[in-house]
Amino acid sequence: MKLILHYIGRHKKMFFTALFFLGIETLADLLQPTFMSYIVDNGVQQKDVGQILGYGIVMLMIAACGALGAVMRNIYASRTSQQISMEMRSDIYKKVLDLSFENIDRLAPASIITRITNDVTQIQNLINGTMRIMMKAPITCIGAIALIILQTPQQIPMMILILCISFWLIGANMYFGYPKFGALQKCLDKLNNVSREFLSSIRVVKAFGGQAQEEEKFDGAAQEFAKAGVSAMRVSAVFSPLINLTVNAGIVVLLWLSQNQDSGQIGRLMASVNYMTQVLFSLGMVSNILNTAVRAVASAERVEEVLKEVPAQENGLKSVPSEEKKAACEVCFENVTFSYAGASQPAVENISFTAQPGETIGIIGPTGCGKSTLINLVPRFYDAQKGRVLVDGLDVKEWGMDMLRRKIGVAPQKALLFTGTIAENLRWGLEDASMEEIRRAAKIACADDFIMGFAERYETMLGQGGVNLSGGQKQRLSLARALLKKPGVLILDDCTSALDATTERAVLEGLRENAADMTVLLISQRISTVMSADRIICLEDGEMKGFGNHQELMESCATYQAIYASQIGGGQNG
Ligand code: ADP
Ligand code: MG
Repeated sequence: MKLILHYIGRHKKMFFTALFFLGIETLADLLQPTFMSYIVDNGVQQKDVGQILGYGIVMLMIAACGALGAVMRNIYASRTSQQISMEMRSDIYKKVLDLSFENIDRLAPASIITRITNDVTQIQNLINGTMRIMMKAPITCIGAIALIILQTPQQIPMMILILCISFWLIGANMYFGYPKFGALQKCLDKLNNVSREFLSSIRVVKAFGGQAQEEEKFDGAAQEFAKAGVSAMRVSAVFSPLINLTVNAGIVVLLWLSQNQDSGQIGRLMASVNYMTQVLFSLGMVSNILNTAVRAVASAERVEEVLKEVPAQENGLKSVPSEEKKAACEVCFENVTFSYAGASQPAVENISFTAQPGETIGIIGPTGCGKSTLINLVPRFYDAQKGRVLVDGLDVKEWGMDMLRRKIGVAPQKALLFTGTIAENLRWGLEDASMEEIRRAAKIACADDFIMGFAERYETMLGQGGVNLSGGQKQRLSLARALLKKPGVLILDDCTSALDATTERAVLEGLRENAADMTVLLISQRISTVMSADRIICLEDGEMKGFGNHQELMESCATYQAIYASQIGGGQNG
């Protein structure tokens, strides 16, 4: 609730302008029945045409004011609620960009999507609804009750009774509804999660004929969502008609009590009934908007959870070596151990090594042995729990985050490209790169040839995630993008895995020619890829089994020998 008030506070002017017009509209609605009763009692009953005309004109003018108020209120209310939800969405988005991978692992992307879309919409509905009817309902209700009491004081006890019953019903409605709406949003998360997973892996699902299984999963989530929805709606389905019933019964009682009224008071009776109807309407609206409020408060809590998430990493403050050296960096691991949240054992344990500036360090080991985890510690995608990672002699936690990441180029295991032209994608590496620089990087990555083969060359449009490219082409673009950055440390996470042997050799050759300016961390599962690196780290189960050049490892490291034997052939050497 505080969150919602905070955002409304930013738009006080618009919000109160909307309320001002709402006030005019409400006042106009309230005055109508009173003037109607004057027309009936003073005009019609006395057969006084002058009075009828006079009051009629006043009524028309009031109605016109009311209509104008309603239009203005609508304009301001919509604008305010749209503005607020837009700001809320962009705040969440910015926050997510600031969060570390650890935070995002915990919040789960699907749930973040629900929060940015559906949860914000719930809050928007409440703010919009508040400006439309929330204020109007209580004002109408109180005004109408006051006017009934003024005009027909004998109704006071009955009014109190009706109000007590209605408020009790509204309270019960909220009490039972609140937890159900929270549960409903959680089910929506789950549904989003299942859909997201299915859509992103649709090729695999089809290839393995897993449609039935996925359908079942989706049906399960959809049914749960529907059930939660029904259960939440059932609460208001029970209480809303009960509130209507109470007020309607009140009207009947009012009419019954008035059967002995003298005929000169017909107009007043009409006004009373009219006001009772307004009360009924308002109470209905109150219970409706409270339902929206219950849902919005549950949503606001979920939005707040993201906004309050403390980034797991602190930005280092030292904006190291003032003049930005382009040259290669030294990378040093000192007894580094890292475990993922909730994992029973460390993903990498006790790693120590130093990569000299300009050196190429190969990292080899079977899948799941911790290669990606190891290199993720350098650009601080995660932070090590024990030990230190140093770049140019300074702990990465002390580097300014921007500065650190500017120094490091990464071609990740899964090549990710964005919707846009090839040139645009490569420029992610260096915003103001010239065409020559772009082509130079592409040439080293052996991408220039196939790009020039496209009709529109570097202006070729890529679909989302680069769907219109082959795996190997994506990898080469991803590598070119990292190279264009001219990083001090270049991290290549198995990014030649989809290339044929000849192309891979050409890429590695190109890297070697340009390696003097970069320290390269080259990950691969293939021994032929890392064999020619200056030194090689051999990983198994998160532990470093060997560190040295190919010759040395062949002599001393059993794990390396085994990998060599399985990939290239037993017994041979070199
Ligand atoms: P490699 O790159 O050598 O194939 P990874 O470094 O990706 O291996 O993974 C090492 C281990 O850490 C694996 O057992 C994997 O299941 C686990 N792991 C990887 N990423 C995560 C993550 N985001 N959360 C939890 N565990 C993870
Ligand atoms: Mg990996």
